[in-house]
Amino acid sequence: MAQKREIPYIWVTWLTKLLVGEHSCEWAGWFRSNHLNSSFNKIPTTFDAAEWQLNHTTLLNNAREDLENSGWTVFTEHQNAFRLRGSSAILGGKPDLVAVSNNKGIILDVKTGQPLPSHHVQVLLYMYAVPKALRQYSGVTFEGRVVYPNHLDRIPGNGVDSNFVNNFSELIRRLASVYPARRVPSSLECSFCNITKIDCPDRIESQKEGLEETGDF
Ligand code: SF4
Repeated sequence: MAQKREIPYIWVTWLTKLLVGEHSCEWAGWFRSNHLNSSFNKIPTTFDAAEWQLNHTTLLNNAREDLENSGWTVFTEHQNAFRLRGSSAILGGKPDLVAVSNNKGIILDVKTGQPLPSHHVQVLLYMYAVPKALRQYSGVTFEGRVVYPNHLDRIPGNGVDSNFVNNFSELIRRLASVYPARRVPSSLECSFCNITKIDCPDRIESQKEGLEETGDF
């Protein structure tokens, strides 16, 4: 049986798709935030992790080399893991790359697939949390970057404004609440969700067969 966490813990990527409307089921984030990851069953993934890891590492190494050649001091992946304590929850994350030079900084994330608005939001959340959670970066002004296989998006530091902070803080409070968030089952979203019917009885299992021809057209 899923075991409750003592303090709600929220991973940055559980927020990003909800914030931009790419996902709607807040209950999935609420459940993960409030229960220990090791305590509940999960749908096995069919995702090719090895291929993704190879592509991701190649893009990240190229970005690291470019920045180091331009004089930046660069830290990658596990070096950048953070936990930021708020009044309702702990926010955790791990930016792919943090680069610093004097009081300027770059937070960069690598994406191997198609560009999505949630990628920008992910980097904005890192730009908010990293200087607060990691003492060595307090006072550093960050800009953000998302690196794709064929291009790079720049995210100015002023994107972390009061409106953005209010929006994600409100979502964190809903996911951290003792009251369950809204469950929004759909065949598309449930197909990307690893929570089983044991914990989510509303889960819609993907249809393996083709669609029945019932339309009049
Ligand atoms: S299985 Fe579907 S309804 Fe259940 S939590 Fe996941 S996305 Fe939401």
